[in-house]
Amino acid sequence: QLEIVNLKASYGGQTVLEDINMAVEKGETISLIGPSGSGKSTLLRVLTGLLPPISGHVILDGKKIDYRNKAQVQELRRHMAIVFQQYNLFQNMSVMKNVTIAPIKIRGRDKKEVIEYATHLLERVGLADKHDAYPDELSGGQKQRVAIARALALRPDIILLDEVTAALDPELVNEVLDVVRLMASQGMTMFIVSHEMAFVREVSAKVVFMASGHVVEVGTPEQIFDNPTQQRTKDFVGKIL
Ligand code: ATP
Ligand code: MG
Repeated sequence: QLEIVNLKASYGGQTVLEDINMAVEKGETISLIGPSGSGKSTLLRVLTGLLPPISGHVILDGKKIDYRNKAQVQELRRHMAIVFQQYNLFQNMSVMKNVTIAPIKIRGRDKKEVIEYATHLLERVGLADKHDAYPDELSGGQKQRVAIARALALRPDIILLDEVTAALDPELVNEVLDVVRLMASQGMTMFIVSHEMAFVREVSAKVVFMASGHVVEVGTPEQIFDNPTQQRTKDFVGKIL
C-alpha cells in the first residue's frame, strides 16, 4: 500500500539518502537495518513528512503524494504514526490524557469514542490499571507501551517504530516487543528500525539493509541474514549475528 520512489534527502546540503526505493504491502512489516548513520531514522522522518525530501515521492494506496504539496503531506500524515526511542510523553498528563489528547484536540474526534478506544488500547498493551498514572510513575517499558498506545489511538494505517527498545533496560525489552508482535499479528502495516535482530527476523516480511544513505539489499529475513548477495550486507550481518 506504500511505495517509495527515488527518495533523496539531505541535511544542510549534505545528501544523507539517495535512490531510496521500496514497497510495503498492507499488513506487512518491513524492517530497516544498517550501521549507525546509514539513514534509517532519516528515512522514517521523511516518510512521515517531518523532513521534506529533495526529490522523490511516495504512492499511498495508489495515490501519488508530492512532498511539496502541503495538503497532500497533511493527508499522508493522517495515515501514519511514528514512535521514537525517547517516548516524549507529556509529563504533566496522565496516561489516559497522553493517549487521547491528539485524537480529540488535533483530529477532533468524539471524546467518548476516543476514550473507549484508548481504554481498549491500554488493555492491549497491558496497562489497563495505569490510566491515571503519570509518566514519572512508570517504568521505561511501560512508558514506551503508552507511547505505542498513543500512536495507535490515532488509528494510523502505517506505524513507524524507530528503535523503540533501544533506551530500555534489557529485562524490559520483551514487554515492548510483545506489543509490537501483537500489532504485527493483527495486521498492522509497520516500518521497524531495530537492533534486535532475532526480533527483526521473526516479524519481518521484508528486511532492507541500508548503508551510507543507500538501500544496499532488500529481501526476506532468510535472504538477508542467511544468504546476503552483497558484500556490505555480509560484513554487517557477519558482525551482528
Ligand atoms: P542510528 O543507527 O545511529 O540511529 P541512522 O541510520 O538512524 O543511525 P540517521 O540518524 O538517519 O542514521 O543519520 C543519517 C545521516 O544524517 C548521518 O550522517 C547523520 O550524521 C546525519 N544527520 C542525522 N540527523 C541530522 C540532523 N538533524 N542534522 C544534520 N545531520 C543529521
Ligand atoms: Mg536512527
